[in-house]
Amino acid sequence: SASSGAQALKYENLVESTTTSPGTLPDPTTLAFGKQFADHMLVCDWSKEEGWAAPVIEPYGDFSLSPSALVLHYGLECFEGMKAFRGVDDRVRLFRPQRNITRLLKSSQRLTLPSFDGDAFLKLLTHLVKKDAAWVPAGRGYSLYIRPTHIATQPILGVGATEQSRLFVINSPVGAYYATGFKPVRLLADPQFVRAWPGGMGDTKCGGNYAPTILPQQHAAERGCQQMLWLFGEDEKVTEVGTMNLFMHWKNDDGVEELITAPLDGTILEGVTRQSIIDLANQWGEFQVSEKYFTMGQLTRALKEGRVYEMFGSGTAATVSPVGEILYREETLSIPLELETSGKLSKRFMDELFAIQFCAWTSDD
Ligand code: PMP
Repeated sequence: SASSGAQALKYENLVESTTTSPGTLPDPTTLAFGKQFADHMLVCDWSKEEGWAAPVIEPYGDFSLSPSALVLHYGLECFEGMKAFRGVDDRVRLFRPQRNITRLLKSSQRLTLPSFDGDAFLKLLTHLVKKDAAWVPAGRGYSLYIRPTHIATQPILGVGATEQSRLFVINSPVGAYYATGFKPVRLLADPQFVRAWPGGMGDTKCGGNYAPTILPQQHAAERGCQQMLWLFGEDEKVTEVGTMNLFMHWKNDDGVEELITAPLDGTILEGVTRQSIIDLANQWGEFQVSEKYFTMGQLTRALKEGRVYEMFGSGTAATVSPVGEILYREETLSIPLELETSGKLSKRFMDELFAIQFCAWTSDD
């Protein structure tokens, strides 16, 4: 979309400066999600005229925007959530970063934000994480949360494609999600709230998908639930949970043992963790793995008939989050966490993914 002669995003053009007042990584056990930030950030500016300016790594800090910047009025922005882990060997690794970058490019395209060279961006992001490697906490479950963000910065009130954008990355050290253990969550299934719909942007990681979820989230909290279970349609298809994809391990209506999650039909976010779980389950080959919808009707029937083994959410923040209860039409549905038939599947996925992320296989693996 850039005019001819416009610059591509290039790692080689990186301009770097270092903070003169470095912070220190707080005691990891005290970290609250997304409140503290590593010393540096990456900033890449684009204009339609010039293309991508030289990328900059500089001390983390405020930047200025025109009050008429498009992002502030029409939500023209998208972002990513990914992590770097400090392995048991003390080396820092990113988990499947290409997938997040591909998703950011896809989100950018949907929002008419400019495209960029994904490989160059990964090199820049890696450079930033290396520079702030001291901010990657050690220990099972700890990580550096990486937040790439792409915003429309042109100062203009007309609703239209931006002629200026800023792509930036900030990093935040985060603690173990399960400080109090692997606790099952209670969900609110209330069809009055809809997260995404056909023809919408459910498969895009844009801020505009998250602002509308905060009120329902408060509504859920008032009812003693940690997250919303997002339903769609007259038949109440079960789609996602909070900011996670959802899996159910059950014996399906045909009597087949199955791990099921909603299909990528445009309304579902294509989770990196979701794909990892599907890949692992396919490798194991122990049960059928299906990308298909199931409905609240099917779920309640299967629960009555004792065919549900386990249900869990999957996402970068928590990795795997078991579901214990669903509040549905003023009734609490109890989800078994494990039956002899299934074993502890969510625990098994969690252990397997942790082993990959922390490079911590036992000598038997
Ligand atoms: N669904 C939604 C709506 C999300 O916000 C997220 C978090 N990015 C996910 C699913 C899980 O995606 P991932 O595994 O890539 O974190």
